[in-house]
Amino acid sequence: MKNNYLMNTYNRFPVILDHGKGSVVWDKDGRSFLDFSSGIAVNILGHSHKKLVSAIESQVRKLVHCSNLYWTEPQVELAKLLIENTFEGKVFFTNSGTEANEAAIKLSRKYGKKKSISKFRILSAVNSFHGRTFGSLTATGQEKYHEYFKPLVAGFDYFEFNSEESLRSKMNDEVCAVILEPIQGESGIVPASDDFLNAARVLCDHYGALLIFDEVQCGMGRTGKLFAYQKYGVKPDILTIAKGLGGGVPIGAVVASNKADVFEPGDHGSTFGGNPLACSAGIAVMREILKDGFLKRVEDKGRYLMKKLEGIKKIFPSLIGDLRGTGLMVGVELKNISSRDFVNNCFDHGLLTVPSGRNTVRLLPPLTVKKVEIDSALKIIAEVLEGFDRTGRNIQ
Ligand SMILES: *Cc1c(COP(=O)(O)O)cnc(C)c1O
Repeated sequence: MKNNYLMNTYNRFPVILDHGKGSVVWDKDGRSFLDFSSGIAVNILGHSHKKLVSAIESQVRKLVHCSNLYWTEPQVELAKLLIENTFEGKVFFTNSGTEANEAAIKLSRKYGKKKSISKFRILSAVNSFHGRTFGSLTATGQEKYHEYFKPLVAGFDYFEFNSEESLRSKMNDEVCAVILEPIQGESGIVPASDDFLNAARVLCDHYGALLIFDEVQCGMGRTGKLFAYQKYGVKPDILTIAKGLGGGVPIGAVVASNKADVFEPGDHGSTFGGNPLACSAGIAVMREILKDGFLKRVEDKGRYLMKKLEGIKKIFPSLIGDLRGTGLMVGVELKNISSRDFVNNCFDHGLLTVPSGRNTVRLLPPLTVKKVEIDSALKIIAEVLEGFDRTGRNIQ
C-alpha cells in the first residue's frame, strides 16, 4: 500500500487485512490467512467471537466512556473477576501493557520510598521486554531498544534471566522490585525455570522487594492456566496484564497484593483506563476462558501442537532447533534459515506467524483454535521447510 501518512515504525507485510472470523482473516481482495499471530497474543477468542461482539455492541449503546471520577459497573465487575482468579489485592486499569508496567514501577517506587529513601532500585532481566514508554523501556533489558533514547530512567539494573547467582549478586536493601516475564515472549519464548522463579521469590522476600510478573504476553490462558505463575506455583506481589485481556479491545491491568497496593488519590491515573467499553470486552473474555474445560482444551491443543512439531523437527533436523513454550505459546527456533525468511514464506503460503528473538518463530493462535486448523498450519510449516535445502538455501 502506498503510504504518505504513517510513520515508518513497522516492516509491514504486503497485505491489507479487512475482516476475520475465528482463526482466519481475509484481506481486501478476499484472500484468506490462517492467523497464528492473533495480533501478537491479543485475539485470544479469535476474530468476531459472538460473545465478545455482543458485549461490545450492547455497551456501545449504553456508555462508551466516562471519567474515573465516577463509578461504572463493568470496571468493578472486571476487577472482581481478576482478583477472584489471582490473589487478594486491588486492580488498576490501563490501556496497554507498557502502561500496566509503568503503574507497577510507580507502585514499587512508592512502596520502597515508604521504607527508606534509598530503596528505589528496580531489577529486570537481560533480553526481557516490558514495553516502549520510558519506565518500561528502561526495564526492557535489550540494548537495541535503548540505543537512541538515552538517558533512560535512573535506578534500573539487569540480571541474567534464569541465573539465580546473577540475580543474587544484584540484590541488596536498595532494591524495591524485581520485574520479570515468567515466559519471555519477544526474545523467543524462553520459560523461566522453576528453580529460578522460586529463588526470585525468596530473594525478594529476604530483601523486602516486590516481585512483579509481567504476564502481558504469557497471561490470559495462553499457557493453559489463566496466568503462567499459577503453573509454577510462585506468587508475585504485582501482576501486569494486557494483550489478551480485551480480546482485541485495548485494555491493560495491574493487580497488586494488599502489601503492594500503596497508591492514594493523586498518585496515579488514566483518562481512558478502565472505561466501560474496554471493561465489558474484558468481562466477556474472562467469562469465556473461565468456562469449564476451556483452559484444559488450551493445554490439550498445546500438547498436540508440540507433539506434531517434534515430528516435523525429526524430518528437518538441520533446519529446526529448540522447540520451547507451553500451551498455545510456542517458539520454534530455526537453524540455517532466518526467522524473517521463514515467516515471510509462511505468509506466502497463507499462514500468519510472528518472528522473535533467538531466530525463533512464535506460534500464538487464538485459544479457540481448532485441531484441524493446527493441522493445516503444520502442513504449511512442513511445506515451507521443504522449500529450503539442508543448508537453508531457498530451493523453491
Ligand atoms: C507486548 C508486551 C508488552 C507491551 O505491551 P503494549 O500493549 O504493546 O504496551 C509488555 N510486556 C510484555 C511481556 C509484552 O509481551
